[in-house]
Amino acid sequence: MSIAICPGSFDPITLGHLNIIRRASRIFDRVVVCVMFNSTKTSPMFSVEERVDMVRRAVAKYPNVTVDCSDGLLAEYARQFDGAVVVKGLRAASDFEYEFQMNLINKKINPEMETMFLTSSEKYTFLSSSIVREMARYDADLKGLVPDEIIDEIREKAKQWRLG
Ligand code: ADP
Repeated sequence: MSIAICPGSFDPITLGHLNIIRRASRIFDRVVVCVMFNSTKTSPMFSVEERVDMVRRAVAKYPNVTVDCSDGLLAEYARQFDGAVVVKGLRAASDFEYEFQMNLINKKINPEMETMFLTSSEKYTFLSSSIVREMARYDADLKGLVPDEIIDEIREKAKQWRLG
């Protein structure tokens, strides 16, 4: 059985992420979306539990996609899935440089691990979780940026932020 791991911080999941996950789910028998919370990104908007829950709701319609989380290194996490391929999205040249470097480090830690890149769909190349957080802070319309199922939750969290 072919397995893809789609890692990310998903703070929160966007339609750009979902596009990559959906395309991976057509190529691989099984997709594991892993919410990583070891990253240097400080003070996330959502707790890891909230992020996992939002991703679960967003991927509920894809039967071969499951959601997990890890605070470890991706290269270590991937060891538990025999022959799994890490699938990541590439938006722009800046993503490429970072991902190329990450890939070299991951290869040092786990030489068995392969990473595949899917280029972002044109309409999502501008989209990132940080843009969504920024938009939410100003109470902008999030439709078309994140899955409909999680819009209310993001707006509610942004409201708490503004009040806090
Ligand atoms: P972000 O960069 O938005 O904070 P993550 O760190 O959660 O997102 O990224 C997880 C993966 O999803 C990375 O491989 C990243 O390149 C990819 N990704 C994020 N946004 C998009 C997008 N709009 N289109 C394609 N891939 C994306």
